[in-house]
Amino acid sequence: MIYQRSSSLFAEAEKYIPGGVNSPVRAFKSVGGTPVFIRRAEGPYLYDEDGNRLIDYIASWGPMILGHAHKPVIDAVTEKAKNGTSFGMPTETETEIARLAVSMVPNVDKIRFVNSGTEACMSAVRLARGYTGREKIIKFAGCYHGHSDAFLIQAGSGAVTFGSPNSPGVTQGTAKDTLLAGYNDLESVKNLFEANKGEIAAVIIEPLPGNMGCILPEKGFLEGLRALCDENDSLLVFDEVMTGFRLAKGGAQELFNVRADIVTFGKVIGGGMPVGAFASRNEIMNHLAPLGPVYQAGTLSGNPLAMSAGLAMLKELEQHPEIFESLEEKTLYLHKGMARVLSKHEVPHQINRMGSMISVHFTTEEVRDFDSAASGNNDTFKKFFHGMLNEGIHLPPSAFESWFLNDALSYEDLDYTINAVDKIAGSL
Ligand SMILES: *Cc1c(COP(=O)(O)O)cnc(C)c1O
Repeated sequence: MIYQRSSSLFAEAEKYIPGGVNSPVRAFKSVGGTPVFIRRAEGPYLYDEDGNRLIDYIASWGPMILGHAHKPVIDAVTEKAKNGTSFGMPTETETEIARLAVSMVPNVDKIRFVNSGTEACMSAVRLARGYTGREKIIKFAGCYHGHSDAFLIQAGSGAVTFGSPNSPGVTQGTAKDTLLAGYNDLESVKNLFEANKGEIAAVIIEPLPGNMGCILPEKGFLEGLRALCDENDSLLVFDEVMTGFRLAKGGAQELFNVRADIVTFGKVIGGGMPVGAFASRNEIMNHLAPLGPVYQAGTLSGNPLAMSAGLAMLKELEQHPEIFESLEEKTLYLHKGMARVLSKHEVPHQINRMGSMISVHFTTEEVRDFDSAASGNNDTFKKFFHGMLNEGIHLPPSAFESWFLNDALSYEDLDYTINAVDKIAGSL
């Protein structure tokens, strides 16, 4: 396939936008080449500026769980837009989506809407700190919670005591309050709690990480975190920006039957509009302004267009819970098909999958945390990515990103994808 117009559009974008993109992963830096510019999308397909039709496994990084331009969502937004795009005052739609979201998600009484997953996680941590009166948080290496300062932290030399900034611009002062643990490593969390007695406000985690590829929690891990948080009077924050309304109606809490104290959302909850949210039980949510002292606000939070898109999306999922099973069956089918052809060509690989999230790692090592995810062969991934793109299949342009299936994908699309893997696997 030819991506000529995309290349020239990218060159023009680079003149005015840093790196030509408004979010770095889109720039193809880890796979090389230049990104595909999209003109429109429908169902499981992206249509690019060169006239190519691509089968999409990014789903806008998660939101488009029902496929692109899903009619009820588009209808809701276009109808709403005729009445104006923003009022800066309350609307009934906000209550409607809040009521529905709270009814779908376990263990929450109230929800506050923001504009992105980043904002949701940032606010959740502030709320946890305000509620507990403590300053430190524990996060896990390889888990992503958006780009706010407190999360741009990597393991420092004294990893047991505190982390260090992994982006210039994040201060040492901020870094010292974020402690780094290992995913699926309960012992590392226990050690941090012991070394910081009475100081940990919250443990924040992607219950099923999708930002180091898709990684599954081992038996007892999430339950162990719950117990440690209870023993230490700390809050457990599930970042369900990816998994919320995707793995199940009630997200990872429902799927794994582990209760979180605060849950954050983004992606699916906005139906493709810029929406994030965080939710908890009354006791905690009542600490938020204007009820309580913890400040949080947003000019465009609860925007009527965004809320109507999210509401239409959640209604679809609420009314058609069979979507989650159908997605899981499709993802399993893709998993089996790819495993079959990669094995046939003797390509060392690991495939991780849960619900409609899946990732392929080119390694012989079991992928269960950040280090094992990093053991994947990136040269193979690059070849794989570009080989698939050449066949008209759009995968996340990084080995550290989960793929997201959407329910508009047909078994013909999946067979086409498996055949494409078969075709290129010999030259990986
Ligand atoms: C995408 C993502 C975020 C950040 O959401 P944005 O809307 O990009 O700010 C936070 N946490 C997780 C788990 C995510 O996948």
